[in-house]
Amino acid sequence: MMATDAVREGNRTRAFLDLLVHVSRELASALDLRLVLERVLKLSLESVSGSSGSIIVLDDQGNPLDSILLIKDRVIQEATQQLKFTIDKGLAGWVLKNREPALITDTSLDKRWQAPPKGEQAKVGPKSVVAAPLIVREKVVGIMTLTHPETGFFTQDHLDLVQAISDQAAFAVYNGRLYAESLRRAGVMTAIAESAAAIGASLQLDKVLQTILEQTTQALEVEAVSLALVEPGEKELVFRAATGERSKEVVGLRIKVGQGVAGWVVKEGQGLIVQDTEQDPRFYSKVDEATGYKTRAIACAPIRARGKVIGVLEALNPEAGSFAGDALSVLDGIGNLAGTAIEHAQLFEQMEAARTRYRELFEDSVDAILITDWEGNIVEANRQAELLIGFDEETLHKMNIHHFHKADYKALGKDLTKLKEGASVSYESILQGQSSNEVGIEVYVHRILMDGGEQLQWIVRDITERKNLDSLREDLASMIYHDLRSPLANVVSGLDVLEMMLPVDQDPTIRSVLDIAMRSTERVQRLANSLLDTSRMEAGQSIGNPEPSAVGDLVQAALDAVATGAQAKEIKLEAGVIKGLPKVLVDIEMIRRVLINLLENAIKYSGEGQKITVGARRAGDFVEFWVKDEARGIPKNELERIFEKFARVQMGASGNTKGLGLGLAFCKLAVEGHGGEIWVESELGKGSRFAFTMPIARTGALEPAK
Ligand code: ADP
Repeated sequence: MMATDAVREGNRTRAFLDLLVHVSRELASALDLRLVLERVLKLSLESVSGSSGSIIVLDDQGNPLDSILLIKDRVIQEATQQLKFTIDKGLAGWVLKNREPALITDTSLDKRWQAPPKGEQAKVGPKSVVAAPLIVREKVVGIMTLTHPETGFFTQDHLDLVQAISDQAAFAVYNGRLYAESLRRAGVMTAIAESAAAIGASLQLDKVLQTILEQTTQALEVEAVSLALVEPGEKELVFRAATGERSKEVVGLRIKVGQGVAGWVVKEGQGLIVQDTEQDPRFYSKVDEATGYKTRAIACAPIRARGKVIGVLEALNPEAGSFAGDALSVLDGIGNLAGTAIEHAQLFEQMEAARTRYRELFEDSVDAILITDWEGNIVEANRQAELLIGFDEETLHKMNIHHFHKADYKALGKDLTKLKEGASVSYESILQGQSSNEVGIEVYVHRILMDGGEQLQWIVRDITERKNLDSLREDLASMIYHDLRSPLANVVSGLDVLEMMLPVDQDPTIRSVLDIAMRSTERVQRLANSLLDTSRMEAGQSIGNPEPSAVGDLVQAALDAVATGAQAKEIKLEAGVIKGLPKVLVDIEMIRRVLINLLENAIKYSGEGQKITVGARRAGDFVEFWVKDEARGIPKNELERIFEKFARVQMGASGNTKGLGLGLAFCKLAVEGHGGEIWVESELGKGSRFAFTMPIARTGALEPAK
């Protein structure tokens, strides 16, 4: 008895070991996960005489990844979804959680057994079940479940056997899983790489979008694909491209960010797969209502450009019924590629538009425009340039801009440094085109970026007419100023005669009337002279009559001229001329007028009782003259401008002092004409100090004989 038991026991152990050797030999060569699963399951069913069984493969997070279901020798495909039920609610879940095998002798009596709602097993009666975990490195990589239609059929022996096979098979399943994963990864990479090549092939936005859709359709094997871009403001998405039977209705549709699957993806910045739209509250049925399309399953990934979500890519209704596990990786990959491609295409479109706009402006400009390289070789010329210069475009392209005009290197800088610094330079010149006529031109040059390189843009304006008008006006002005002078001189001499004939000493009224008349006439004379001088000096004429003059005399003459005006406002005039100053070489009449101008301004802006000082001192080869007041002063930003023609400082609403803004412009021309400088130092509310320098007259041979 003992012996037979031992023999039986020995035989069983032998059979057991044989089986394990068989299992490991069967599995050693297999890599394909499905094949491994099928072999393990068949072997196991055979060795325990089971009728049906399943193996569920789990990923690292414990989610079902793949599975096999064998019912009476028939392999049921695509059962993973169905088997998920038993992981969530049934026996497999229990095994996974407890990491130990389970034996159920009667399924109707054990709560761990839950028949799936739709499965075939639901129809049959109670049975017996064994289940065991497949564990590798402490991790459950799968669960094997075997059933027998009779209750009480399976025993502890069966369970031990199943556990032993499971232990043996676990590594094979694990390797198969790894292999399947790497295959899938490779597939994803290939799909993305192929898309990359296709999507990057064009720069036209429409074409790029179309290629993205095609690539997505191919890679995911879906019925329809659509692409929406985020609108500026990031509140809305607009469908820009779509494929499928309702594509025309889809394009142009708008949805809000946060609304629907697409809106959710933009808002969350991550992809999403909805296998059954009826089960997911994020699905927004309004789009289907608008288009008449029926979306059953949807995969959606963000389109990113430089880290920002600029849109979404949607794949609808996979041909296989549901999306494969890697669908989102593929879609994500394409989405990332799409972002860069779309952005490039958009930039390219903007560039093209800008280029067209420039071209139009260029051709339609009323000015002649020429584009040259840094040497001046013409690369482009518009119609006006052809007209102005008198050559056709083709001929111009062989020419150099410096052939037609003399460039002003003072303005452009030596070696065009000003242009190289990026400044816009303008100057006047003469154009010598095909005809022998010379044309007065104004040239504006600046550096531009074109076709990726630096070029120069020359805008050439015909200013013949303006020149003519200018010289006409100047001639006219000089004529008037000039012609004013002799009648004025007559008035002065007439007044002189009257002064001698009338009893001015006896009658103070006559005296004062005559004084007013004389002073006013002198002022008009000074004004006429200054205007005439201004227009002459602007035309480039030099100072008429420089002669060595005593500084003290100049200052005194000016003081005499304004004394009455100062008295009327009770202004104290003080002279501070240093004794022993050398003579200055000046046109006496002109510099006297400069001093009078500065003094009159000082009087005009001073309040009653304020003080004005006039002085002179030596400054190197020059004598510096100054007029200092205690009046309102001049704002800092106006200190230079007031010397420009017609420049006047606006001082609040009450700044209503009369004047044309010509006085200081004359002073500047006169002083600079003498080789001196004029400036003003001023502090608002405290007064101003106008100063100018005049060259010292050299004694000796150079001094004009007088
Ligand atoms: P205007 O005929 O207006 O006096 P000017 O050329 O003589 O023309 O002066 C230009 C401007 O400079 C004046 O409008 C005034 O605003 C300012 N200005 C000139 N002199 C003085 C001064 N001494 N104090 C304050 N402002 C002055």
